[in-house]
Amino acid sequence: RFEGVTMAPPDPILGVSEAFKADTSDLKLNLGVGAYRTEELQPYVLEVVKKAESLMLERGENKEYLPIEGLAAFNKATAELLFGAGNQVIQEQRVATVQGLSGTGSLRLAAAFIERYFPGAKVLISAPTWGNHKNIFNDARVPWSEYRYYDPKTVGLDFEGMISDLKAAPDGSFILLHGCAHNPTGIDPTPAQWEKIADVIQEKNHIPFFDVAYQGFASGSLDEDASSVRLFAARGIELLVAQSYSKNLGLYAERIGAINVVCSSPDAAVRVKSQLKRIARPMYSNPPIHGAKIVANIVGDPTLFNQWKDEMQMMAGRIKSVRQKLYDSLSAKDKSGKDWSFVLQQIGMFSFTGLNKAQSDNMTDKWHVYMTKDGRISLAGLSSAKCEYLADAIIDSFHN
Ligand code: PMP
Repeated sequence: RFEGVTMAPPDPILGVSEAFKADTSDLKLNLGVGAYRTEELQPYVLEVVKKAESLMLERGENKEYLPIEGLAAFNKATAELLFGAGNQVIQEQRVATVQGLSGTGSLRLAAAFIERYFPGAKVLISAPTWGNHKNIFNDARVPWSEYRYYDPKTVGLDFEGMISDLKAAPDGSFILLHGCAHNPTGIDPTPAQWEKIADVIQEKNHIPFFDVAYQGFASGSLDEDASSVRLFAARGIELLVAQSYSKNLGLYAERIGAINVVCSSPDAAVRVKSQLKRIARPMYSNPPIHGAKIVANIVGDPTLFNQWKDEMQMMAGRIKSVRQKLYDSLSAKDKSGKDWSFVLQQIGMFSFTGLNKAQSDNMTDKWHVYMTKDGRISLAGLSSAKCEYLADAIIDSFHN
């Protein structure tokens, strides 16, 4: 009976790691998946996470089921980290927060909510975007289309194109926005551009749907990286925000995140939360406790909270320093006069190199540099010792 099942294609991002594992060259470099590595290119468990875990062990915390909506202390902490504890949306109890299975699971929960309560509504996603966004909305049967975002000519933001596509979308569409450190391009709107985006969203009665996977990881500051979301919240706009602790706390495998829905009244928030729970219950029943306790314990203890901020700045700082070093190496080695400054203008974990598919193939086939075929490299997987080698590979591939 299963004979008729066809082979599924490999995942374009996670498939890169599989290919990397199979390569036996000493030169190989994995810049595919967005996971932080140390200068020695090893995975990193934050010291503050180890401390929180040992405290949890000492206290003998149990492993009973969480409620459907997750750990109350986590939900409170995560909404406050996002909006700021004093924010009016928190004070007025207008946020429905439900713990989700990291960023992906939280996005998926919201997609199911949109499908159920806004039948026919369309989600607009940036071109390009994180590949899984399309899968998530497809599986939830939510129609989506793209708005212009990346301009290959400038390797920058196509702001005019973005604005005109948001204006052309049907009124009341959901607009998926990356809160900070846009994946895959590393190109974010400026504060003035965010204001203009908010103007158009308000004019068109659209509903912003933020994906915040890198809070604190882009600039090193939790508040600065949440400023886009807070700008919209301050205008009294109803919105959704999916959060992830994979990157900023290095909790990739703990699957810890949340979906927040900002409503116009506390009553609506209670009702929305009840419906999110109703969707979660038959899907996975309730979320995992371990990561939720880690986050709640760290955020709830001023010493641990400060240590987290220090480690986050250290990680963000290491990425910024390899970004600078890569730019320096590219500029020094490339004799073609190409302007590489876009590398410095991009922020976060990724750099969108502008390499096309054939050139990205050359990076892998000739240089053993593993990356996604859209030209994205994860700088979190780069060490400063490998910057020169990577610059050689990029220059060779560009002029190939
Ligand atoms: N959104 C974006 C834009 C991402 O880059 C990622 C991680 N690569 C996620 C969501 C979700 O990651 P996770 O499910 O691990 O939280």
